[in-house]
Amino acid sequence: MVSSSSAKFFTRRQILQTAGMFAGGSLLTQALPRSLAAAFPQQPAAAPDTIVTARARFGSTPIEPTKLADTLTLLTGPGGNVIVSNGPDGKLLVDTFTQLAWDRFKKTLDDMGKAPLKFAIDTHWHWDHTDNNINVHAAGATLISQENTRKRLTESHLLDVLNLQLDPSPADALPAHTFKQSYQMHFNGEHLTLGHMAPAHTDSDIYVHFQKANVLHMGDVFFNGSYCYIDSGTGGSIGGMIAGATRMLAMVDNDTKIVPGHGPLGNKSDLTKFRDMMRTARDRVQKLKAAKKTLAESVAAKPLADLDPVWGKGLMNGDRFVHLIYTTL
Ligand SMILES: [Zn+2]
Repeated sequence: MVSSSSAKFFTRRQILQTAGMFAGGSLLTQALPRSLAAAFPQQPAAAPDTIVTARARFGSTPIEPTKLADTLTLLTGPGGNVIVSNGPDGKLLVDTFTQLAWDRFKKTLDDMGKAPLKFAIDTHWHWDHTDNNINVHAAGATLISQENTRKRLTESHLLDVLNLQLDPSPADALPAHTFKQSYQMHFNGEHLTLGHMAPAHTDSDIYVHFQKANVLHMGDVFFNGSYCYIDSGTGGSIGGMIAGATRMLAMVDNDTKIVPGHGPLGNKSDLTKFRDMMRTARDRVQKLKAAKKTLAESVAAKPLADLDPVWGKGLMNGDRFVHLIYTTL
Protein backbone atom coordinates (compact mmCIF):
# COMPACT_ATOMS: atom_id res chain seq x y z
CA MET A 1 0.00 0.00 0.00
CA VAL A 2 2.92 2.28 0.54
CA SER A 3 5.07 1.14 -2.34
CA SER A 4 5.52 4.66 -3.64
CA SER A 5 6.66 5.77 -0.23
CA SER A 6 8.80 2.77 0.52
CA ALA A 7 11.92 4.93 0.47
CA LYS A 8 10.92 6.23 3.85
CA PHE A 9 11.07 2.77 5.34
CA PHE A 10 14.79 2.44 4.66
CA THR A 11 16.74 3.52 7.69
CA ARG A 12 20.19 5.02 7.20
CA ARG A 13 21.64 1.80 8.55
CA GLN A 14 19.77 -0.31 6.03
CA ILE A 15 20.94 1.97 3.25
CA LEU A 16 24.55 1.63 4.43
CA GLN A 17 24.16 -2.13 4.66
CA THR A 18 22.81 -2.15 1.13
CA ALA A 19 25.74 0.01 0.08
CA GLY A 20 28.14 -2.48 1.62
CA MET A 21 26.85 -5.12 -0.75
CA PHE A 22 28.31 -3.21 -3.65
CA ALA A 23 31.87 -2.41 -4.49
CA GLY A 24 31.65 1.35 -4.72
CA GLY A 25 29.55 4.47 -4.70
CA SER A 26 28.89 4.58 -8.41
CA LEU A 27 27.57 1.06 -8.33
CA LEU A 28 25.36 2.02 -5.41
CA THR A 29 23.86 4.86 -7.38
CA GLN A 30 23.16 2.56 -10.28
CA ALA A 31 21.73 -0.18 -8.10
CA LEU A 32 19.29 1.91 -6.07
CA PRO A 33 16.09 3.11 -7.68
CA ARG A 34 16.66 6.57 -9.07
CA SER A 35 13.96 8.12 -6.90
CA LEU A 36 15.40 6.56 -3.76
CA ALA A 37 18.93 7.73 -4.51
CA ALA A 38 17.64 11.22 -5.17
CA ALA A 39 15.39 11.33 -2.17
CA PHE A 40 17.75 9.92 0.42
CA PRO A 41 20.06 12.90 1.06
CA GLN A 42 17.04 15.14 1.59
CA GLN A 43 15.03 12.78 3.72
CA PRO A 44 16.50 12.12 7.14
CA ALA A 45 14.29 9.64 8.95
CA ALA A 46 11.62 12.02 10.24
CA ALA A 47 8.93 10.21 12.22
CA PRO A 48 5.63 10.31 10.32
CA ASP A 49 2.82 12.57 11.50
CA THR A 50 -0.09 10.84 13.15
CA ILE A 51 -3.83 11.42 12.95
CA VAL A 52 -3.62 13.19 16.32
CA THR A 53 -1.31 15.88 14.94
CA ALA A 54 -3.29 16.12 11.72
CA ARG A 55 -6.59 16.60 13.58
CA ALA A 56 -5.14 19.37 15.70
CA ARG A 57 -4.40 21.39 12.56
CA PHE A 58 -8.14 21.66 11.82
CA GLY A 59 -9.11 21.92 15.49
CA SER A 60 -10.44 25.47 15.71
CA THR A 61 -11.24 26.22 12.05
CA PRO A 62 -14.74 27.76 12.05
CA ILE A 63 -17.63 26.15 10.13
CA GLU A 64 -19.02 28.62 7.58
CA PRO A 65 -22.36 27.96 5.82
CA THR A 66 -23.24 29.05 2.26
CA LYS A 67 -26.73 28.42 0.86
CA LEU A 68 -26.57 26.56 -2.48
CA ALA A 69 -30.30 25.88 -3.05
CA ASP A 70 -33.53 25.56 -1.02
CA THR A 71 -32.48 22.28 0.54
CA LEU A 72 -28.69 22.43 0.02
CA THR A 73 -26.02 24.15 2.13
CA LEU A 74 -22.26 24.17 1.69
CA LEU A 75 -20.24 23.99 4.91
CA THR A 76 -16.56 24.95 4.75
CA GLY A 77 -14.08 24.65 7.60
CA PRO A 78 -12.50 21.82 9.58
CA GLY A 79 -11.74 19.37 6.76
CA GLY A 80 -12.86 18.85 3.18
CA ASN A 81 -15.91 20.82 2.05
CA VAL A 82 -19.27 19.38 3.15
CA ILE A 83 -22.71 19.61 1.49
CA VAL A 84 -25.82 19.18 3.64
CA SER A 85 -29.18 18.30 2.09
CA ASN A 86 -31.91 19.15 4.62
CA GLY A 87 -35.61 18.64 3.98
CA PRO A 88 -38.67 16.45 4.51
CA ASP A 89 -36.74 13.20 3.94
CA GLY A 90 -34.18 14.12 6.59
CA LYS A 91 -30.54 15.12 6.31
CA LEU A 92 -27.91 13.82 3.94
CA LEU A 93 -24.23 14.76 4.06
CA VAL A 94 -21.49 14.70 1.45
CA ASP A 95 -18.29 14.21 3.50
CA THR A 96 -18.00 14.48 7.25
CA PHE A 97 -15.22 16.91 8.42
CA THR A 98 -12.63 15.99 11.08
CA GLN A 99 -13.23 14.60 14.56
CA LEU A 100 -12.17 17.49 16.80
CA ALA A 101 -14.89 19.54 15.12
CA TRP A 102 -17.64 16.97 15.74
CA ASP A 103 -19.45 18.85 18.53
CA ARG A 104 -19.59 22.04 16.45
CA PHE A 105 -20.54 20.11 13.31
CA LYS A 106 -23.39 18.36 15.16
CA LYS A 107 -24.63 21.67 16.57
CA THR A 108 -24.60 23.22 13.07
CA LEU A 109 -26.69 20.30 11.79
CA ASP A 110 -29.07 20.42 14.78
CA ASP A 111 -29.54 24.18 14.31
CA MET A 112 -30.77 23.53 10.74
CA GLY A 113 -33.82 21.68 12.08
CA LYS A 114 -35.06 18.49 13.65
CA ALA A 115 -34.98 16.27 10.55
CA PRO A 116 -33.03 13.09 11.33
CA LEU A 117 -29.62 12.37 9.83
CA LYS A 118 -30.20 9.63 7.23
CA PHE A 119 -27.21 9.35 4.90
CA ALA A 120 -23.56 10.36 4.60
CA ILE A 121 -21.69 9.97 1.31
CA ASP A 122 -17.87 9.84 1.24
CA THR A 123 -16.30 11.48 -1.84
CA HIS A 124 -13.12 9.36 -1.26
CA TRP A 125 -11.27 7.60 1.54
CA HIS A 126 -9.04 10.40 2.86
CA TRP A 127 -9.31 11.07 6.57
CA ASP A 128 -10.14 14.79 6.26
CA HIS A 129 -13.34 13.76 4.40
CA THR A 130 -14.28 10.63 6.39
CA ASP A 131 -13.03 11.29 9.93
CA ASN A 132 -16.52 11.74 11.38
CA ASN A 133 -17.94 8.66 9.64
CA ILE A 134 -18.02 6.96 13.03
CA ASN A 135 -19.92 9.84 14.63
CA VAL A 136 -22.47 10.40 11.86
CA HIS A 137 -23.07 6.65 11.76
CA ALA A 138 -23.71 6.66 15.52
CA ALA A 139 -26.08 9.61 14.96
CA GLY A 140 -28.14 7.52 12.54
CA ALA A 141 -26.59 7.95 9.09
CA THR A 142 -26.10 5.12 6.63
CA LEU A 143 -22.66 5.50 5.03
CA ILE A 144 -22.36 5.30 1.24
CA SER A 145 -19.20 5.29 -0.92
CA GLN A 146 -17.45 3.78 -3.90
CA GLU A 147 -16.17 0.33 -2.96
CA ASN A 148 -12.50 1.37 -2.89
CA THR A 149 -13.23 3.90 -0.14
CA ARG A 150 -14.33 1.08 2.14
CA LYS A 151 -11.33 -1.03 1.09
CA ARG A 152 -8.81 1.78 1.64
CA LEU A 153 -10.31 2.61 5.04
CA THR A 154 -9.55 -0.95 6.20
CA GLU A 155 -5.83 -0.55 5.38
CA SER A 156 -2.81 1.27 6.82
CA HIS A 157 -1.34 4.04 4.70
CA LEU A 158 1.65 6.35 4.73
CA LEU A 159 0.83 9.40 2.63
CA ASP A 160 3.73 10.57 0.48
CA VAL A 161 4.96 14.18 0.86
CA LEU A 162 2.57 14.78 3.79
CA ASN A 163 4.41 12.00 5.69
CA LEU A 164 1.16 11.13 7.47
CA GLN A 165 0.64 7.65 8.89
CA LEU A 166 -2.98 6.46 8.93
CA ASP A 167 -4.24 3.33 10.66
CA PRO A 168 -7.24 1.22 9.60
CA SER A 169 -10.61 2.72 10.55
CA PRO A 170 -12.89 0.98 13.04
CA ALA A 171 -15.71 -1.15 11.62
CA ASP A 172 -18.38 1.40 12.57
CA ALA A 173 -16.69 3.99 10.33
CA LEU A 174 -16.86 1.84 7.19
CA PRO A 175 -19.51 2.54 4.55
CA ALA A 176 -22.26 -0.10 4.68
CA HIS A 177 -23.45 0.64 1.14
CA THR A 178 -20.85 0.61 -1.62
CA PHE A 179 -20.98 0.66 -5.42
CA LYS A 180 -18.56 0.16 -8.27
CA GLN A 181 -19.49 2.60 -11.07
CA SER A 182 -22.56 4.66 -10.22
CA TYR A 183 -25.42 5.02 -7.78
CA GLN A 184 -28.68 6.95 -8.00
CA MET A 185 -30.62 8.43 -5.10
CA HIS A 186 -33.85 10.40 -4.72
CA PHE A 187 -33.83 12.51 -1.58
CA ASN A 188 -35.55 15.75 -0.57
CA GLY A 189 -36.96 16.16 -4.06
CA GLU A 190 -33.51 15.89 -5.63
CA HIS A 191 -32.09 13.33 -8.03
CA LEU A 192 -28.52 12.56 -7.00
CA THR A 193 -26.05 10.82 -9.26
CA LEU A 194 -22.92 9.41 -7.67
CA GLY A 195 -20.28 8.41 -10.20
CA HIS A 196 -16.87 6.80 -9.89
CA MET A 197 -14.03 8.59 -11.63
CA ALA A 198 -11.12 6.60 -12.97
CA PRO A 199 -8.15 6.85 -10.56
CA ALA A 200 -7.46 10.59 -10.21
CA HIS A 201 -6.67 11.91 -6.71
CA THR A 202 -7.03 8.34 -5.37
CA ASP A 203 -8.70 5.22 -6.79
CA SER A 204 -11.86 5.87 -4.74
CA ASP A 205 -12.98 9.29 -6.02
CA ILE A 206 -16.60 9.95 -6.86
CA TYR A 207 -18.55 13.03 -7.91
CA VAL A 208 -21.96 13.76 -6.41
CA HIS A 209 -24.32 15.64 -8.73
CA PHE A 210 -27.56 17.17 -7.44
CA GLN A 211 -29.32 17.45 -10.80
CA LYS A 212 -32.23 19.78 -9.97
CA ALA A 213 -30.13 22.30 -8.07
CA ASN A 214 -27.27 21.87 -10.58
CA VAL A 215 -24.72 21.44 -7.80
CA LEU A 216 -21.67 19.20 -8.24
CA HIS A 217 -19.33 18.05 -5.45
CA MET A 218 -16.05 16.88 -6.99
CA GLY A 219 -14.21 15.85 -3.83
CA ASP A 220 -10.46 16.28 -4.13
CA VAL A 221 -10.41 15.99 -7.92
CA PHE A 222 -10.86 19.78 -7.65
CA PHE A 223 -8.83 22.10 -5.40
CA ASN A 224 -10.18 25.57 -6.21
CA GLY A 225 -7.34 28.07 -6.59
CA SER A 226 -4.42 25.99 -5.36
CA TYR A 227 -2.12 23.13 -6.27
CA CYS A 228 -3.65 19.82 -5.27
CA TYR A 229 -2.51 16.78 -3.36
CA ILE A 230 -2.29 13.54 -5.38
CA ASP A 231 -2.18 10.21 -3.52
CA SER A 232 0.16 7.98 -5.51
CA GLY A 233 -0.06 5.26 -2.83
CA THR A 234 -3.74 4.61 -3.59
CA GLY A 235 -3.75 5.03 -7.36
CA GLY A 236 -3.71 8.81 -7.83
CA SER A 237 -1.81 10.43 -10.71
CA ILE A 238 -1.50 13.80 -12.42
CA GLY A 239 -2.83 12.26 -15.64
CA GLY A 240 -5.87 10.95 -13.77
CA MET A 241 -6.48 14.33 -12.16
CA ILE A 242 -6.44 16.07 -15.56
CA ALA A 243 -8.73 13.42 -17.07
CA GLY A 244 -11.15 13.66 -14.13
CA ALA A 245 -11.36 17.46 -14.34
CA THR A 246 -11.82 17.28 -18.11
CA ARG A 247 -14.65 14.75 -17.73
CA MET A 248 -16.42 16.99 -15.22
CA LEU A 249 -16.01 20.04 -17.49
CA ALA A 250 -17.93 18.16 -20.18
CA MET A 251 -20.74 17.47 -17.69
CA VAL A 252 -21.28 20.96 -16.23
CA ASP A 253 -22.67 24.19 -17.66
CA ASN A 254 -21.97 27.84 -16.90
CA ASP A 255 -24.50 27.84 -14.04
CA THR A 256 -23.28 24.72 -12.24
CA LYS A 257 -22.16 25.38 -8.68
CA ILE A 258 -19.01 23.30 -8.32
CA VAL A 259 -17.91 22.38 -4.80
CA PRO A 260 -14.21 21.51 -4.62
CA GLY A 261 -12.73 19.24 -1.96
CA HIS A 262 -10.78 22.25 -0.74
CA GLY A 263 -11.07 25.96 -1.48
CA PRO A 264 -14.07 28.24 -2.09
CA LEU A 265 -17.21 27.38 -4.07
CA GLY A 266 -16.33 27.39 -7.76
CA ASN A 267 -17.79 27.33 -11.26
CA LYS A 268 -16.88 26.11 -14.73
CA SER A 269 -14.40 28.92 -15.26
CA ASP A 270 -12.56 28.09 -11.98
CA LEU A 271 -12.43 24.40 -12.86
CA THR A 272 -11.10 25.21 -16.34
CA LYS A 273 -8.30 27.30 -14.84
CA PHE A 274 -7.43 24.51 -12.41
CA ARG A 275 -7.39 21.88 -15.18
CA ASP A 276 -5.26 24.11 -17.44
CA MET A 277 -2.80 24.79 -14.59
CA MET A 278 -2.41 21.02 -14.09
CA ARG A 279 -1.76 20.52 -17.81
CA THR A 280 0.90 23.24 -17.85
CA ALA A 281 2.57 21.85 -14.73
CA ARG A 282 2.42 18.28 -16.04
CA ASP A 283 4.00 19.28 -19.37
CA ARG A 284 6.87 21.12 -17.70
CA VAL A 285 7.69 18.32 -15.26
CA GLN A 286 7.31 15.76 -18.06
CA LYS A 287 9.97 17.63 -20.03
CA LEU A 288 12.41 17.46 -17.11
CA LYS A 289 11.74 13.77 -16.56
CA ALA A 290 12.17 13.05 -20.27
CA ALA A 291 15.53 14.83 -20.08
CA LYS A 292 16.52 12.30 -17.38
CA LYS A 293 16.48 14.80 -14.53
CA THR A 294 16.13 13.15 -11.14
CA LEU A 295 13.31 14.01 -8.77
CA ALA A 296 15.61 16.24 -6.73
CA GLU A 297 16.94 17.98 -9.85
CA SER A 298 13.43 18.53 -11.16
CA VAL A 299 12.26 20.07 -7.87
CA ALA A 300 15.39 22.25 -7.74
CA ALA A 301 14.76 23.49 -11.30
CA LYS A 302 11.62 25.28 -10.00
CA PRO A 303 9.64 24.66 -13.20
CA LEU A 304 6.48 26.21 -11.71
CA ALA A 305 8.12 29.38 -10.31
CA ASP A 306 5.82 31.70 -12.28
CA LEU A 307 2.70 29.79 -11.12
CA ASP A 308 3.64 29.58 -7.43
CA PRO A 309 2.46 33.10 -6.41
CA VAL A 310 -1.08 32.21 -7.56
CA TRP A 311 -1.34 28.45 -6.97
CA GLY A 312 1.30 27.64 -4.33
CA LYS A 313 -0.21 29.27 -1.26
CA GLY A 314 -2.27 26.30 -0.06
CA LEU A 315 -1.26 22.95 1.45
CA MET A 316 0.98 22.22 -1.54
CA ASN A 317 3.79 24.60 -2.47
CA GLY A 318 5.51 24.38 -5.85
CA ASP A 319 8.22 21.97 -4.67
CA ARG A 320 5.68 19.52 -3.25
CA PHE A 321 3.51 19.71 -6.34
CA VAL A 322 6.49 19.03 -8.64
CA HIS A 323 7.32 16.00 -6.43
CA LEU A 324 3.75 14.67 -6.75
CA ILE A 325 3.66 15.17 -10.51
CA TYR A 326 7.10 13.64 -11.09
CA THR A 327 6.36 10.53 -9.06
CA THR A 328 3.00 9.90 -10.79
CA LEU A 329 4.10 10.48 -14.38
ZN1 LIG B 1 -8.11 13.79 -0.47
